[in-house]
Amino acid sequence: MKIKIRTGFGYDVHQLQEGLDFWLGGIKIPHTHGALGHSDADVLIHVICDALLGAANMRDIGFHFSDKDPQYKGIDSKILLKEVMHLLSREGYEIGNIDSTICLQEPKVNPHIPDMKACLAKVMGIPEHDISIKATTTEHLGFVGKKEGVAAFATVLIVKQ
Ligand SMILES: [Zn+2]
Repeated sequence: MKIKIRTGFGYDVHQLQEGLDFWLGGIKIPHTHGALGHSDADVLIHVICDALLGAANMRDIGFHFSDKDPQYKGIDSKILLKEVMHLLSREGYEIGNIDSTICLQEPKVNPHIPDMKACLAKVMGIPEHDISIKATTTEHLGFVGKKEGVAAFATVLIVKQ
């Protein structure tokens, strides 16, 4: 019998810069710095998109939404996530679950996780229970610890109907 469950993984990094809006998990986090990128630089949404596309073996977020394409300049990453959901559902895939980790020295992410989960569940049309978001610092080590950037990881399970 052919296995109809597939797993995917995503990893992404964005630089932090003073004075930018900080979009994370679909919501705006109050902070002095924000993530730099061609889109709104929402690192959590980007890793979820990459994990979903990887699970379906459909390349990656940069392949579908080029950072050279002016139509994606400053775009809300929730739009990209919705499009990725369309790409997967067209191939008959449904989401089993998502697990993710945000690596950020400051500000504290934990108080915002319920809002992120609610937002992403709505965008993706899946139960909040199927989206796990965790947060960690890197104990002041490396570019995350030095507050130069934000990183995230995600794994997903998708099921072919
Ligand atoms: Zn990104």
